[in-house]
Amino acid sequence: MELKSNHSSPVLTDPIPVNNSRLGIHSNLLSYQQSGGSLSSGKYMTIPRKKPGKLEDVWSNGWLEAMRSSSPPRKRLIKDKDFTIEAAADDFDIAYCSWMIKYPSALKSFDQILKNAKNKKVAVFLDYDGTLSPIVDDPDRAFMSDSMRSAIRDVAKYFPTAIISGRSRDKVYELVGLTELYYAGSHGMDIMGPVSHAESGDHPNCIRSTDQQGKEVNLFQPAREFIPMIDEVLKTLVENTKDIKGANVENHKFCTSVHYRNVEEKNWPTIAQRVHDILKDYPRLRLTHGRKVLEIRPVIDWNKGKAVEFLLESLGLSDRDDVLAIYIGDDKTDEDAFKVFRERNLGYGILVSSVPKESNAFFSVRDPSEVKKFLKALVTWKKFEKA
Ligand SMILES: [Mg+2]
Repeated sequence: MELKSNHSSPVLTDPIPVNNSRLGIHSNLLSYQQSGGSLSSGKYMTIPRKKPGKLEDVWSNGWLEAMRSSSPPRKRLIKDKDFTIEAAADDFDIAYCSWMIKYPSALKSFDQILKNAKNKKVAVFLDYDGTLSPIVDDPDRAFMSDSMRSAIRDVAKYFPTAIISGRSRDKVYELVGLTELYYAGSHGMDIMGPVSHAESGDHPNCIRSTDQQGKEVNLFQPAREFIPMIDEVLKTLVENTKDIKGANVENHKFCTSVHYRNVEEKNWPTIAQRVHDILKDYPRLRLTHGRKVLEIRPVIDWNKGKAVEFLLESLGLSDRDDVLAIYIGDDKTDEDAFKVFRERNLGYGILVSSVPKESNAFFSVRDPSEVKKFLKALVTWKKFEKA
């Protein structure tokens, strides 16, 4: 497959730094900052790292602060009288309402979105966890509802639709279970896309394969060479965290994650230190923070934003004025896609969030139930447009 230059130079880019100064929300969510580093002549970037082994490391490099801020409560815990509770709730609502001036509701702005979608080919990109399914304590039980599945099935009847998840592609397919979609797992490092518009076989990481239905597809796996390394780290992580109650290591094939949602907060320094100590031996891996999860992935220039560009290209929808793409996601990793949407004027990023946070998205929805409403509205619009 012929790839554009921006697809083929795997040099480190961290998820975009989010400027949270306006809201005072913590922004230093990355363990290794890019500043001060320099691009090496090879494919990868050398990242300065702190010396391992001391507990202070996970404090001084911001890991613990990032872990605590990765999933802020919707409202402050109030233990005073009723009056105080109401005041705090009002404070939150005021903050949320003022945030929505910057990130208007995609439902309330639906007419505006439609105005720009008219006579255009619409493509839909969806994150999974926290977007189509609720965030739950056990990641293996993050099921989406039948009504959500039905809404997505309808969307896919009218628009090219892809799921882009941090989970392994197989896992997200198992959870979604719709053959009519395209799937990108492991933060876009494992893409199954159509062959119709792609010149397959030219790129070393792109191979022809067949999907679950036996249909010919392109598999694009830019981090393929990292599989043995990720496998090794996964085994070490499982071994080194097995005595920490509630810790859950998940295999995503091209990346791995350590969930600490069910770990007592007093044990967070321990889990952070263990992960930190393992990573010191793997300079080609890096850590990012998700919602109550530490994610370990290869140091390559590939993310959900690149995955969207790749899929649009594969679908023959790249560099066209008559295409409007919509991306809905809730996590830091989705910001890479939102950023690409803004920079390339691809369409609209929609952030799923019930708390104010800075984003590169254009619009917002509160939760998966609003995502479903939005998807249904898209289908209704298309049906009427065709009628
Ligand atoms: Mg998500």
